[in-house]
Amino acid sequence: MTKLQDQRLLKNASYWQGEWHNADTCFDVINPATGDVIAQVADASAADAEKALAAADNAFPAWAARPAAERADLLQRWQQLLLEHQDDLGLLLTLEQGKPLAEAKGEIAYGASYLQWFAEEAKRVYGDTIPAKSGDQRIIVIKQPVGVVAAVTPWNFPNAMIARKAAAALAAGCTFVVKPAQLTPLSALAMAELAQRAGIPAGVFNVVTGTDAKAIGNVLTQDKRVAKFSFTGSTNVGKQLAKQCAGTVKRVSLELGGNAPFIVFDDADLDAAIDGLMASKFRNAGQTCVCTNRVLVQKSVQQAFTDKLQQAIGKLKLGNGTDENVDIGPLINNDACDKVDELLKQATESGAKVHCGGKRQAADSLFYLPTLLTGVNNNMAVAQEEIFGPVAAVQSFDDEAEAIALANATESGLAAYFYSRDIGRCWRVAEALHYGMVGVNEGMVSNPSAPFGGVKQSGYGREGSKYGLDDYLDIKYLCLGGL
Ligand code: ADP
Repeated sequence: MTKLQDQRLLKNASYWQGEWHNADTCFDVINPATGDVIAQVADASAADAEKALAAADNAFPAWAARPAAERADLLQRWQQLLLEHQDDLGLLLTLEQGKPLAEAKGEIAYGASYLQWFAEEAKRVYGDTIPAKSGDQRIIVIKQPVGVVAAVTPWNFPNAMIARKAAAALAAGCTFVVKPAQLTPLSALAMAELAQRAGIPAGVFNVVTGTDAKAIGNVLTQDKRVAKFSFTGSTNVGKQLAKQCAGTVKRVSLELGGNAPFIVFDDADLDAAIDGLMASKFRNAGQTCVCTNRVLVQKSVQQAFTDKLQQAIGKLKLGNGTDENVDIGPLINNDACDKVDELLKQATESGAKVHCGGKRQAADSLFYLPTLLTGVNNNMAVAQEEIFGPVAAVQSFDDEAEAIALANATESGLAAYFYSRDIGRCWRVAEALHYGMVGVNEGMVSNPSAPFGGVKQSGYGREGSKYGLDDYLDIKYLCLGGL
């Protein structure tokens, strides 16, 4: 940790009301690449979460009343600080999460890009005037911030999942309390340090770090002061938290698990498809909710495609994310490795074949070898559950109708990808896929100017884009009479 240029970015306490708060006990933050304890962070309680909410609640009226241009300036200052400290923030992120340093720095730039995007959008919260029924009335629509926003975020993007929620919330005029994943609190706390330096007022951005997710989650989902709850994480936890929010009728946004198909048609540019698949499948060691989960290849090109895929996988370098030229870091913890082991075991017992990888680099290691699995079908758990690991699981299909049916045969609907050079097919398949995001000859779809989000049990709400502010705004109708 001594390698940080600015050691003050390493924080170990929760942050609310513009101040750092210790707790009676601490929890360890572990580097998944080495098993080393890299920090001990204050283990906040449910009572602490209530204090953070009180701070956000107190800060709300003044923040909402600030002119949008002023909020935008502060968000932009925050964004600049993220970029100025990109190397340190990237290093912290790699140390607590494991992804290669280049990817971690990329995530910081990606998170910062949401701050910039919503700083710009803050100034464009337009209303409407609507023709009234009678001449002595006028109908006007204005948009106002919903109020205090609470968020719970996962460990796979410790910076960006917070940045894209907080950016939209703060731009809209809301105040914000986040509970980051306990595995990766350091990136969240470094963001708080930079929010403070940027001059974001006390109580506007607050971070509560703790191991009792259930107790803190209970407060964030049930306290009347929270107007809106935003969650990114697993489908089961999301469903539970949405239920908890129902008691106080909160606005809710959920970004839950995916089960992305990646379809390769026989008219595809196979090399381009390989490039897209490698990015979509192996980024973050396969631990993203938009990662390809099922590779669907048309039978006539299956052999050619899997040969190329095996070659590309063979070139991936596995290692500690802080080492040079590493493509894949460790999985986040032992449970993640066990899950991949179990999915592969079940798949091979049902007839699937491992061509390369298929196990950890060494017993007890969190480094999982990049794996090519063929002979998969949709009934296998490896095709039904999120793998969240570096396994390309290939199945085959005969024609377009079968590809679409297979792709849609899941309760998830986050991201899907397909490769084809036939313009008619591109339109047909893009429209037929029941997903919130579709990459057409493209394996990377995330972008602050585009709406990120899913359909079906992958959740609701959109992050980023011109639509992203709507999740944090109420529509108010004013009827002016007696004119
Ligand atoms: P993942 O599989 O990515 O770890 P989780 O849904 O378990 O997904 O975790 C995402 C976030 O949800 C984390 O911040 C975690 O601490 C939090 N979380 C998990 N269980 C609960 C719960 N019962 N109440 C509130 N938050 C929870």
